[in-house]
Amino acid sequence: MRILIVEDDTHIAENLVLFLEMKGHECDYATSCRGASQRLAQAEFDALIVDRGLPDGDGLSVIRDLRARGSSLWALVLTARDTLEDKLAGFEAGADDYLLKPFALQEVEARLDAIARRGKLREDAGTWQLGDIEYDSSAQEVRRGGSALRLPPKALRLVAVMLPHPNRAFSRRELELAIWGHEQESSDNLRSLLHTVRRHLGETCSVEIVNMHGLGYKLALR
Ligand code: CA
Repeated sequence: MRILIVEDDTHIAENLVLFLEMKGHECDYATSCRGASQRLAQAEFDALIVDRGLPDGDGLSVIRDLRARGSSLWALVLTARDTLEDKLAGFEAGADDYLLKPFALQEVEARLDAIARRGKLREDAGTWQLGDIEYDSSAQEVRRGGSALRLPPKALRLVAVMLPHPNRAFSRRELELAIWGHEQESSDNLRSLLHTVRRHLGETCSVEIVNMHGLGYKLALR
């Protein structure tokens, strides 16, 4: 994978680059938000690893800019901040996952493996429609009958993953990898997310999420 690392602590950055290149990845490196934007404009990457405390701002702004341009580049946030508000701010900005400093290099590798496994489950770029539901990846928006639904970020991702493949059964594991980047210890997380999506779609929606006993879930017309 081609990975962009944005970190102003040269010790951490060098360790990351050495470790990831040893594992066969190709790394590029920036020390500021501005440097990161330049690299992202110049080359294609498969993953972004970004620190929050950078000399010219919060690393989350790099992710926010990417998402505003419609990019679904996988983004991992490195942070020493561990309050719930900080985690939520990360996901709100469009981060896919985060690691609290200090972290073990193996943890970074485990997160990268998770993206490689989900492979084609990345949301594809474009617009998809099923019944009265439409997902627009560049606007990062799900619309019903033309009006945008106010879905929380993970609920939006669930629709983004399932809508391009109507009637396909997604296993719990597949959905968890696509949404959280790794399997969840409890099945309650996915169940509550499905509940959120169903509530937002509403009972009169022409599309529904169907439980397929023992197989998982599919999105289908009612
Ligand atoms: Ca820093």
